[in-house]
Amino acid sequence: MKVRTDFLCELNQKKIWLRREDLIKEKVTGNKFRKLKYNLIEAKKMNSKAILTFGGAFSNHLYATALLGYINGIKTYGIVRGNEWKEKLKENPTLINCVNNGMTLIFVSRDIYKKKNNCAFWRIIKLNPSKFYIIPEGGTNELAVKGCSEMLDKNDNIYDVLCCPVGTGGTISGLIKSSTINQKIIGFSALNYNNLKSDIDKHTNKKKWELNNKYTFGGYARSNIDLISFINNFKKKFNIQLDPIYTGKMLFGIFDLINKNQWSWGKNILIFHTGGIQGIEGFNRRQLKKGLSCIM
Ligand SMILES: *Cc1c(COP(=O)(O)O)cnc(C)c1O
Repeated sequence: MKVRTDFLCELNQKKIWLRREDLIKEKVTGNKFRKLKYNLIEAKKMNSKAILTFGGAFSNHLYATALLGYINGIKTYGIVRGNEWKEKLKENPTLINCVNNGMTLIFVSRDIYKKKNNCAFWRIIKLNPSKFYIIPEGGTNELAVKGCSEMLDKNDNIYDVLCCPVGTGGTISGLIKSSTINQKIIGFSALNYNNLKSDIDKHTNKKKWELNNKYTFGGYARSNIDLISFINNFKKKFNIQLDPIYTGKMLFGIFDLINKNQWSWGKNILIFHTGGIQGIEGFNRRQLKKGLSCIM
């Protein structure tokens, strides 16, 4: 699959390109398409009647799973963190979209959600796990990493630095796996999570990568006025939409480091726009409720 690459600008002798995974021609865009691709093939191969997965109430992964399930004629189930959302479903565009695409949502409290890797969990929610093709939260497993490794090919060797946002680490693992020895991969964490490095090490032996935790803006789905302004200005300047959870934080970080002369890696930078645009509507609703500024 050929994905467009946009040249953004030259800044302090660094050339910056953006790989537009957000424009993938499938109905599901971004890295969530990459992560689900081989899982869907596997679910079909195993003749699974349904796919079951997990996520927060604004999860790009739940959204993508519902949509891809619908397109491929496979029933989907989503375990949603936070049972308060059962009553507030109508306020949540992500969950409404999941339901409209045929996903059955099961709402559980945060405490029960934490137990999702225990056998007791299935008794509590009264489902038999052996009846489902189960994909973990965030969609990261071996097949997801395989899908993400296809984001890079040998023609990309002209870039010496590759950047992507990091949540569970599946996307960066795929990039690391298919990178060459001339390339360095920098992941920008969207949240503060300590085991990320060892999670990534489980998927690859390569060592030419690092994580930057300086641009989490306080944690997952946290933001501030500087980040929102950056995203809005970026759109004005380049006519490209960034999301506030992942790609906005990463691009803020990259521009900040280069502007402050703290960019110590290569000169030809390829940045992966991993999508996530569906989350903006829900994000803006939360911002409005709090009287905070919105993404334009
Ligand atoms: C899920 C997501 C990520 C993080 O991907 P991981 O494989 O979990 O690290 C990055 N960007 C966007 C837009 C996402 O939706």
